[in-house]
Amino acid sequence: MFSRIKSLFFSNKPNLIQEIETVTNLSKDGFLLLDKNNQISWYNQNASEWLDLENKYARKNIRSYFSNQNFSAFIEDTDSEKTIEVIAPSDKEKFLSLQLIPFRDDEKFMVLRDISKPIKLETIRTDFAANASHELRSPLTVIAGYIEMMLHDDSMPDNWKEPIKELGKQSERMKSVLSDLLVLFQLESEANQIDEEIIDIELIVNSSKNAAMKRSNPPKSFKVDFPRPALIKGDEFRIQSVINNIVENALRYSDQKGEIEVSWNVDVNGGHLSIKDNGIGMEEKHLKRITERFYRIDKGRSRDMGGTGLGLAIVKYALQNHNATLEIKSTIGVGSEFICHFPTDRIKK
Ligand code: ADP
Repeated sequence: MFSRIKSLFFSNKPNLIQEIETVTNLSKDGFLLLDKNNQISWYNQNASEWLDLENKYARKNIRSYFSNQNFSAFIEDTDSEKTIEVIAPSDKEKFLSLQLIPFRDDEKFMVLRDISKPIKLETIRTDFAANASHELRSPLTVIAGYIEMMLHDDSMPDNWKEPIKELGKQSERMKSVLSDLLVLFQLESEANQIDEEIIDIELIVNSSKNAAMKRSNPPKSFKVDFPRPALIKGDEFRIQSVINNIVENALRYSDQKGEIEVSWNVDVNGGHLSIKDNGIGMEEKHLKRITERFYRIDKGRSRDMGGTGLGLAIVKYALQNHNATLEIKSTIGVGSEFICHFPTDRIKK
């Protein structure tokens, strides 16, 4: 294989190819050269080891090494900024990040980077946080139970009533944060285990609407506009989380004058669920960050309204699990619109 590249573009510099081979073999990364049909025409030591290319049954086409769903799209993409994470064919414990760099007319260099260490560290961190949350759940339930009893105990001295009420509020807050954290960890750790059932989005929206209208402080209006059936293939629990969290925010960040509009439309790009409010809106600079965990524009307001700072992180993950994306538009003082874009292969015609 190696001789081919020599004849292709180094024929007038015979030493250069050796130098490149030496340098790339010193690198921690793997390198492959792919021809226009995605056949491997050259590789360095790491790439050889990670793909087991010296094996006498080694295949030449790069596609035969990765069954990852997104790999087909990735290999045809000319954007050299894009990377994809895959498992090394020779070792199921090794994670690789792949990057493609277009080369000459129709060839590509593939750079393979071993990202097992950061992935393992991330897993340890997430497992720790998930275990800590689980451990806290039981004692907190007991504490909240006693606080609840004290709240309804008529023999409680008057000067204790306010502090106990405050304790009750804080323990409720902790319960909400823990419960959102546990959902988030579940979405992260079970990203590949989503149910694939047919879900009626309109039903979920209507049940969210009914719950909102039954509140002590319902919005002024809640319009639902579904001109055609909104059936998608996906996981009901996750889609419910998406809709409930966005609707909850629409209520939280508008007030009783709140006008909420939910609509659905389908076009050649897929299905689009829009949830719009006429609330306080957000400055452009926050829009990129509000799906980060615990990112809140106004911490005080979020807390006072029972927010955990995790709702939109849950939305983002749950949509990612469906290969769907979230678009956010907002204007201060006018309102916000959250649009969930579902790919065509999720839409049930
Ligand atoms: P929280 O529990 O604080 O609402 P989220 O993750 O759901 O957390 O949202 C993150 C932040 O984004 C909120 O604290 C709020 O500042 C902002 N935000 C979310 N939805 C809206 C909305 N519909 N209108 C205005 N601000 C919003």
